[in-house]
Amino acid sequence: MNPDRTVHMARWSEADGVLLLRSVATAMVRLSEAGDPGAASAVPYPEEAQRALNTTVLTCLLLKARPPESLPELVEWAACRPLDQWPVTLPPDVVPPEARLLYEATRQPTQLCYEWAVDAEDSAAQYSGQHHMSVVAQRCREEKYPEAYRAFRLLLVRRPVLTHRELATLPAAAGSDLGSLGDLLYDVYQPAPAGHLDRERRSYVSCAHCHGLLHPTTGGGLWCEQRRCREAGTVRRGREYRADENGGVQLLIRPLRQWVSAPGLMEKRLADQLAKVGAEVELWPGFGAYGMRVRFPDGTTLAVDCKDWTSPALLGRRAAPPPPDPPYDRCLWVIPAGRLRDHPGFREVFERYRPSASPELMTDRELLRTARRLVAAGRPYEDIDPAVPGEAPEGLF
Ligand SMILES: [Zn+2]
Repeated sequence: MNPDRTVHMARWSEADGVLLLRSVATAMVRLSEAGDPGAASAVPYPEEAQRALNTTVLTCLLLKARPPESLPELVEWAACRPLDQWPVTLPPDVVPPEARLLYEATRQPTQLCYEWAVDAEDSAAQYSGQHHMSVVAQRCREEKYPEAYRAFRLLLVRRPVLTHRELATLPAAAGSDLGSLGDLLYDVYQPAPAGHLDRERRSYVSCAHCHGLLHPTTGGGLWCEQRRCREAGTVRRGREYRADENGGVQLLIRPLRQWVSAPGLMEKRLADQLAKVGAEVELWPGFGAYGMRVRFPDGTTLAVDCKDWTSPALLGRRAAPPPPDPPYDRCLWVIPAGRLRDHPGFREVFERYRPSASPELMTDRELLRTARRLVAAGRPYEDIDPAVPGEAPEGLF
């Protein structure tokens, strides 16, 4: 570990802002699970929320800054005050400019809010949804049924919204590999939260792009939680569900939407593109040991995980190679090229905070470009010289 990196790691736990942001982020996630952070007026507050308020008040007093007077005011800070303007000490570059813990339009936790919530070891499992996927993997492993694992994961990617009837009938449908996992669907799909309901029409509207539920905004518009959908411009209305349609509307729980569906959508698209280029691709091999296994004609095998994170520092802190089985030669974390456009220093900050030299970081575009060149040239992987312009992105292979 280089000295610069050691300094960053040591400072991490000492900075008061790290403990505070973790605490407030966890509180906002808990409030959103309990209902709506924007309506946080019930006393007593949930334990996490009271703790976050106490921590924030104490930190402000120590820094001689004006503290929030109540939980609703802390919620207001989370929605309206960019984190780089909070009166706390933070390690450099850990919060992107203008970043907040709640979306102003919906008062729901931002992607960054979940990234902070899983940064705390004691709450990581709870807010990552990892335990749900472990149960699925365990059952499929016992039954020696990898197709069921892939079918479950594909369902989460393609159908974040199901009616209650679909939840009951899909596993039994002809050609479905979900058979023995039917009961587990009820743990990960929950009745759609009231915040998504169009109260006048008594209906829910899905996003035409990602198929998640759109959220009505305070300004009367519709809003999608996926950055890619908002990036594409106006959010497009997809299927509309009556509130009571086929037994009611069920939505995939938020941790799995963020940590499984969103990267899964990117993994599925990238897998199709890589297969078209001529690579052999297996999605979620080894019951989800990693995102995809990519084999080139020369035999070189990559383990690829897609990571669409807001904070390169929080992502960098988690850099570690995936499990060695199924085996691979190199491992990569792939980020959307759009992240680098939004945040040109993304790669540099990630590199500064990572505790391990692997996996390598590259964008989806860089991986595709390199794959095309490797396959077209029919050359062994080792012969691609990253130092030659146009051969491969610098320093990546
Ligand atoms: Zn969307």
